[in-house]
Amino acid sequence: MNLREKMQRRLKLSRPSLRARARPPKQRSPLGAQFTAANLPTALALQCCDACGHVQYPPTELCGQCLDDSLVYRQVGTEGTLLATTALNHSLWEYYKRRLTQNPWLIGSIALDAGPVVLAHIGENTLKSGERVNVFSHTDASQQAVLVAVAASTDMSTPMARRNIVAGMALDVPAHKEGGL
Ligand SMILES: [Zn+2]
Repeated sequence: MNLREKMQRRLKLSRPSLRARARPPKQRSPLGAQFTAANLPTALALQCCDACGHVQYPPTELCGQCLDDSLVYRQVGTEGTLLATTALNHSLWEYYKRRLTQNPWLIGSIALDAGPVVLAHIGENTLKSGERVNVFSHTDASQQAVLVAVAASTDMSTPMARRNIVAGMALDVPAHKEGGL
């Protein structure tokens, strides 16, 4: 590796804005990594308490209701009600900075019928609070599970349908920069 390549590699590490490909945050706690692994084969899996049946999100070490530690991931219903949405107009993370140049990025809180309130990317910009939605998990461009909410009428029953929704949001590809490192 010559000096120029060494300097470029260093710049790429220290200056995300110069990267040709920017990705969403990939850092996860061990519990977050478990969530990603549990959600790979299914539309939505959340921690369920074996002692009291409580369903919870985000993942924790102990049940939030009875403090038991027998928490297992189980497939849960994807149905819920959208509580509120918010439009992200600014981000310090390079991936979102690039995504935000054309449109704001929508995120929302959803009360799942299964119990917990989750925060998710909003897949359709026509969604309004109070509407019925489906929430599913999918891996993003950093290979980590994130949650996506779509209207109840949108088909998300198959892995292919879910992949298409995520692709439509460009969540599964890095944000590119012409002439980046
Ligand atoms: Zn419990």
